[in-house]
Amino acid sequence: MITFTTELTRIPGTTGRFADRLLRLRIRTVGDLLMHFPTRYEDFSAVVPVAELQTHQTATVRGVIRSISTRRTWRKHMLLLEALIADETGTIKALWFNQPFLARVLRPGLQANFAGKVLANDDELYLSNPAYEFVPRNAASQAVNHTARLVPIYPETRGLTSRGIRFLVKLFLRAVGSVPDFVPPDIRSSYNLPELREALANIHFPKSMNEAEDAKRRFAFAHLLLLQLANGRMRRALAREETVPIRVQASELETLIARLPFRLMPSQETCLREIVADLEKPHPMNRLLQGDVGSGKTVVAALAALLVSSQKKQTAFMAPTEVLARQHYRTITTLTDRLTPDSAPHIGLLLAAETRAFYGANLEERVSKHALRSRVADGTCTIAIGTHALIQAHTRFKDLALVVIDEQHRFGVDQRAALVTRRPTPDATAPAIQEKNMRQTRTGESIPKTAPLPHFLSMSATPIPRTLSLTLFGDLDLSTITELPAGRKTIVTKVVAPENRSKAYAFIDQEIEKGRQVFVICPRIEPALANGGETLSQPTRTDMLLHEAKTVKAEYERLSKKVFPNRAVGMLHGKMKSAEKERVMAAFTSGATNILVSTSVIEVGVDVPNASVMVIESAERFGLAQLYQFRGRIGRGEHQSFCLLFTESTSDATKERLEALLAAKNGFALAELDLKLRGPGQFIGERQTGLPDLAMKSLGDIALIRDTKNAAELLFSRDVELQKYPLLQAELARFTTAVHLE
Ligand code: ADP
Ligand code: MG
Repeated sequence: MITFTTELTRIPGTTGRFADRLLRLRIRTVGDLLMHFPTRYEDFSAVVPVAELQTHQTATVRGVIRSISTRRTWRKHMLLLEALIADETGTIKALWFNQPFLARVLRPGLQANFAGKVLANDDELYLSNPAYEFVPRNAASQAVNHTARLVPIYPETRGLTSRGIRFLVKLFLRAVGSVPDFVPPDIRSSYNLPELREALANIHFPKSMNEAEDAKRRFAFAHLLLLQLANGRMRRALAREETVPIRVQASELETLIARLPFRLMPSQETCLREIVADLEKPHPMNRLLQGDVGSGKTVVAALAALLVSSQKKQTAFMAPTEVLARQHYRTITTLTDRLTPDSAPHIGLLLAAETRAFYGANLEERVSKHALRSRVADGTCTIAIGTHALIQAHTRFKDLALVVIDEQHRFGVDQRAALVTRRPTPDATAPAIQEKNMRQTRTGESIPKTAPLPHFLSMSATPIPRTLSLTLFGDLDLSTITELPAGRKTIVTKVVAPENRSKAYAFIDQEIEKGRQVFVICPRIEPALANGGETLSQPTRTDMLLHEAKTVKAEYERLSKKVFPNRAVGMLHGKMKSAEKERVMAAFTSGATNILVSTSVIEVGVDVPNASVMVIESAERFGLAQLYQFRGRIGRGEHQSFCLLFTESTSDATKERLEALLAAKNGFALAELDLKLRGPGQFIGERQTGLPDLAMKSLGDIALIRDTKNAAELLFSRDVELQKYPLLQAELARFTTAVHLE
């Protein structure tokens, strides 16, 4: 029997080369094929008698082929196939270009449907490149696939057109046996959702657009429900975990705050209180601290680490790169000297090529990795700072209470457990551990609880609209820093017209002469056609057609050889080896390089106070929130800073977006605006969440988000383990393994 999980290669007719084409569309099973949804529909539903056809109308004609002929057009040398089609009311020509094989199929005397656009040549109407379909006389209207109805258009691949996909989908919709629906029946009826099988039929072959919309909504609902359930399960799993509460003395906290070299901003203070309240609870914190680059997140996290340290407990502070880890180390040690002058914690920096230990009052030494690791293992070193890789894989803590991570949003039960304990190898002779002493990992594996889980604080400078945070990061509590520290100079932001480019370069040269440094951001590494490129954002269609995006490699060549031959220019992009990237970044940080040409990979949060100019090439290619973040990398020192946006585009939409940037208060406000202007894809597209397109598109749909959240809560209230819903439970397990939300 054919089911959703049947592999297509096991079905005669969809093997070999055909299977390869399907694989290119990521279709391996019958289920994948049926879940390969149309991106739009062509409306061929109007069946119109020839005598009533109008120019520019899209319609289906039912008629008999009277004659057929082929010829070459004399001007462009294209093969032109011409058919004369007749019904009871008249005749019309149909023209096809470069489709010679059609002459073998379309024979005079055959009756068929022809669907397409009606155009006029002088006053003579003709059908332009119509789709054809042979239809048996008196066939039911549902028998048509390509004409006389709403016709699905799919993502295609070479050798497999929508027409071919339609054929397969129709075949397997009929052939597939039972299709169990994992959305419980009462949830379907409360939210007016069609049953799975019906929704599948309707999303591919709808009788009306309403039917198609209802079907789409059902699939979006189902996916968001899974997301909500996954989030809810993570929340519940952590709420069941016990951890040792950190007792925070109010007076101690006040003292630390009072000793800061600045006043905390109100939202920083709120975030800090939220974090402290979590630390005091007997269950592990799972919190996301959001705020623009330079808004003061690290300071807040450092205060939390100092509070933990004064209880003789440990904090792991992890960054995605060595540059950022070093930066955190600097921030925290500098603060510590000031905040805890007489009881400085022992702070370690763990990098691949460098290990340092700090004991306060400017006392610092280089130690071996081994020595530092043993101080972490015996509890002497209470704050360990390093890259994810080094700390996660190789470092054991004596009493880890807090994990702080940059730009990694999730840190699951199993990852936390791995930091506090070596995972014991299963031992058949060991007495069975009681269930309450076991913990479930994300993948459903059970591991014994041997140590309490640490608290978790993720820091993110990626502005994401609130609706998206609530779904994508629905298992996390959110704290947001909404202001920027006072005294920061406003950054002069200008859109530079193409004719002023050389003036802008002269200005940049003056800044370099004064000792300043410059970032130049380009949307691509190299031309798109050469390598498939690295698409960073979706510009408007016209922009894409009219203007080539600037590339890092070409811009680096041009700037280093032609524009600034006397300056030191560096280049940074995602295809470089990480050691090389570190070297380039270090050269820029130290001031040895004047200009750094880079893609958006340039690390979030990089702090080079001497950089005062940010040039963004092909600015129309970037999302607003992204532009805002780039700009956040300058204006961090005492120098007046400048952000110069270059664009070849003259479209109003581009102008409107760039002007929004000029007026923006913070990245999160811009992200909300971007969500309205360009949809949610850009915020998560690059992260390849594995969430299906439909679900992605609905991540901005507040009503649907609320409905799915309520439905998830209802299901949990009936049965926390979802054992009453085996289909849903199984689907959720599949979903959590397939969708990676980091
Ligand atoms: P983030 O981690 O969000 O990028 P940091 O915590 O590194 O930001 O702070 C950026 C800079 O701003 C640091 O030099 C920090 O000392 C300073 N800073 C943080 N909070 C304040 C504040 N409330 N007032 C003034 N300066 C601040
Ligand atoms: Mg930072």
